[in-house]
Amino acid sequence: MSEPDWPARGRSWWSHVQALANDGMEGRETGSAAYRRAADYVAHQFQEAGLEPGGVQGYLQPVDFRVVQLDEAASSMGLVRNGAVEPLRLRDDAQITVTTATVPDIEADAVFVGYGLDIPEIGYSDLKGLDLRGKFAVYFRGGPSEIPGPLKAHFQSLEQRWGSLHRAGAVGSITLINPKVPDLPWSRLGSGLLFPRMELREQSPDEPRPLQFSAFFNPERFDKLLAGTGHTAAEIMAGLGGPGPIPRFPLAVRVRGHAVVRHSTASCWNVAGVLRGSDPALRNEYVVGTAHLDHLGIGEPVNGDRIYNGAMDNASGVATLIEIARRMKESGQRPKRSILFLAVTAEEKGLLGSEYFAKHPSVQGRFVADLNMDMFLPLYPMKYIEVQGLDESSLGPELRELAHQSGIETHGDYEPQRMLFVRSDQYNFIKVGAPSLMLSVGYVKGSPEEETSKAWFLKRYHAPSDDLDQPVDTVAAAQFTDLLGRFMVQVANDRTAPTWNADSFFRRFAR
Ligand SMILES: [Zn+2]
Repeated sequence: MSEPDWPARGRSWWSHVQALANDGMEGRETGSAAYRRAADYVAHQFQEAGLEPGGVQGYLQPVDFRVVQLDEAASSMGLVRNGAVEPLRLRDDAQITVTTATVPDIEADAVFVGYGLDIPEIGYSDLKGLDLRGKFAVYFRGGPSEIPGPLKAHFQSLEQRWGSLHRAGAVGSITLINPKVPDLPWSRLGSGLLFPRMELREQSPDEPRPLQFSAFFNPERFDKLLAGTGHTAAEIMAGLGGPGPIPRFPLAVRVRGHAVVRHSTASCWNVAGVLRGSDPALRNEYVVGTAHLDHLGIGEPVNGDRIYNGAMDNASGVATLIEIARRMKESGQRPKRSILFLAVTAEEKGLLGSEYFAKHPSVQGRFVADLNMDMFLPLYPMKYIEVQGLDESSLGPELRELAHQSGIETHGDYEPQRMLFVRSDQYNFIKVGAPSLMLSVGYVKGSPEEETSKAWFLKRYHAPSDDLDQPVDTVAAAQFTDLLGRFMVQVANDRTAPTWNADSFFRRFAR
């Protein structure tokens, strides 16, 4: 068989990125008219690729949201010490994160709780022995080096944090991010929190509610919170990510917050298409391919540009789903299990579209695997594939072997502190029992490609410059797409469904 025409396939892939990430798509904000146009495009492409509708209204599955938006100009925060109020500059010192539970006014004592982690099964607790009743808990994201990554990541999810902080009696939270961990820089995190925040309209009553008041704090201003405690930011931050807990102690300031919040509702859609399996005994088992379709919409201008196009995040992943479906139609392949192509909404709002789908699936059957893409970053040639969840299930070695046959080597997560395995849509499938992977184009540590990847995060991640005017290796995208498509077919044809490893933390969710 001759080598595929990679440049042509790359152009075809890019055409979908263009269709979804051009300025007319206005950044595909959840609930916007522009998002609906993007969803219609994907539905049309799924139809052209011969997929069965897998939604409720054809390919679309409606999802309803409650929306809260901070009126920043009317809101404020301050630190109160010895009766004097030091106002905080929003966006600069701190930023309020609103939820449907946010109260208009609060003033309370605050306690620095280290990482704020509470992991009963290994007997680790940063909260134990501290009086948090009616107080703010101030914590750094992350955790001690000796706690396994997946465990640390799971217990940092908002629902776990809200649960343990509620049980400890805390009313508010202030989150700091370790600046040594490559992630969203404060400048974009602070202003990014001004995007509307959403929650699923249907909440099960057993889910922990948000706290009364939450904020992020600029780690460079951490000393403001520590004033009067005898501790310094430098001292505490030096221990971040190292072995053992970091110090925990009451702060000498009270935290005051005033939040003006506008409430509304929104509706949006997941887009689902099914390649029906050929085996009557297995066709109700689904191998799921996911990518989020939403991005941030229109927001704070950067260099005069207000449109957050989200070309890599994550029009790229949706384009790959479309291309895989098209190739399957062309090849006439009919794997034994069904393959579900799912473009989800509201990932940027907290993985809400995939949460809704996993809890209220619009297809009948069982999800045996989820293979997710979220910014798979085809910025350099496809020699390596990076896999989140590589060592957790039978999917890891199976993909490694298939990639190896194509001359592509596999590596795991180089930045486990970023917790990517629980920060994108696969997590909601993991929680309903499906072994899952998240896949990106990989690189070797210390290589120029690593620099390219890091520079991309610094410059373009969640910025308006993640647009169509950036260097992308479309041949790498086509080769990544080809590998993922072949892997989906292989898993759909496997004699047995994928299983979690015996020692995997995530096995607890298996059904
Ligand atoms: Zn994303």
